[in-house]
Amino acid sequence: MEEQQKSSHVVLVTVTFQGHINAALQLATILHSKGFSITIVHLELNSPNPSNYPEFTFVSIPDNLTESQLSDKDIPGLVRRVNKNCAAPLQQCLEKILHSHHHISAVIYDSFMFCAQPIVDDLGLPGVTLCTHSALGLLFYHVFPQLNEKDCISGLESPELQALQLQGFHALSSQNPTEAGMEVGAAFANALKSSSAIIVNSMEFLELEVLSKIKQYLPTPIFIVGPLHKLAPTMCNSLCTEDNKCISWLNKQSPKSVIYVSFGSIVNIDKQELIETAWGLSNSKQPFLWVARPSMDRGSEWTESLLNGLEERMGERGFIVKWAPQKEVLAHAAVGGFWSHCGWNSTIESICEGVPMICRPFFGDQILNASYICNVWKIGLELQNLERGNIERTIKRLMVDMEGNYIRKRAMDLKEKAAFYLMEDGSTSGSFDGLAKHISSV
Ligand code: UDP
Repeated sequence: MEEQQKSSHVVLVTVTFQGHINAALQLATILHSKGFSITIVHLELNSPNPSNYPEFTFVSIPDNLTESQLSDKDIPGLVRRVNKNCAAPLQQCLEKILHSHHHISAVIYDSFMFCAQPIVDDLGLPGVTLCTHSALGLLFYHVFPQLNEKDCISGLESPELQALQLQGFHALSSQNPTEAGMEVGAAFANALKSSSAIIVNSMEFLELEVLSKIKQYLPTPIFIVGPLHKLAPTMCNSLCTEDNKCISWLNKQSPKSVIYVSFGSIVNIDKQELIETAWGLSNSKQPFLWVARPSMDRGSEWTESLLNGLEERMGERGFIVKWAPQKEVLAHAAVGGFWSHCGWNSTIESICEGVPMICRPFFGDQILNASYICNVWKIGLELQNLERGNIERTIKRLMVDMEGNYIRKRAMDLKEKAAFYLMEDGSTSGSFDGLAKHISSV
């Protein structure tokens, strides 16, 4: 099949967030290994480094975005702005690519870049949606809004998922969606209707029931292709410089003693939360590695002095970096827990390494992922109250107490399942062959 695909050309349209760029480049790497030639279309803000991928063509489109807009808490507003600003440049860019290559087999676009679908429809090209969130996210954000209440709250068998579904449904229906939220939701749904396939970076065994519920309502073929970071692990796509000194520090720590703390690439935390986090970590007596990004308000003098003070007080027990080589950190023998904002990439990276989690979701699908982690897979604890005493107790519950044994064991079980899933013939590799066939045939 690979010979036959040599001349097939796939265009991947990605968006400006770290987790989304990672997934697009990993997917592109795998498709390239299957014989597709690749063009990556990306936004100007947070461009990936093309020198890591000499075999791909990179094209940047103007986005008219500023760094500060990226940390906007109003995600639907931000996504709407991205699509508004990028639609015309994307159209011109695809026309130009089409003109010079004569042939595009498919345009795979990040689900946040839904403006791509009407453009490819116009150009007579097949569009494929890439979901860098879970299948549960697809169910909640793309399928449920199209259903009536009865269909929404029925159909899932396990009590944990039913509870999650009910909780999510009530949250969705009680929220007064903003104008941007409604517009983005409708545009997502419309894009899906004419998308020729959906790709999800997940593992089937994690989301079997949810997937069968989605298939009940969505006729579009779905390819579950994760965990992408394990299937295309070679390149470092970090938009910030990774501080590798933390690995030398981890080498000096006892097995499974360190709590790794990171809130991903977008989340901002406020001053009070920063103080409570610092004191909670300090009082827990547990070694910690904390990623405090500059854009997480680290730039301010005040924050720097808080972090410096904490490092001085902690001596060898704490290590603070601006950006970590996260996958290497999670795979390190010294790491015994991950206090996370529950972004989907962080969640599957943690599952693949068997690291139990402390969940502090902030917005969007992070809330769904935290429910999955704590209530469905039972591999983590939710941090409900961000007060230093509670942080200290939650760290101890996970890392030291008997209660943590059960959670740690479940996390290791899930890691084994993930490793088995990756080895199994016909699961992930079968999905990729199916996807390759689909792209070649549309
Ligand atoms: N990441 C990293 N170093 C860090 C923090 C995060 O390499 O110090 C990576 C992490 O491995 C993951 C991505 O950044 O692949 C974050 O994606 P996620 O979906 O977890 O969260 P988001 O940043 O989209 O909120």
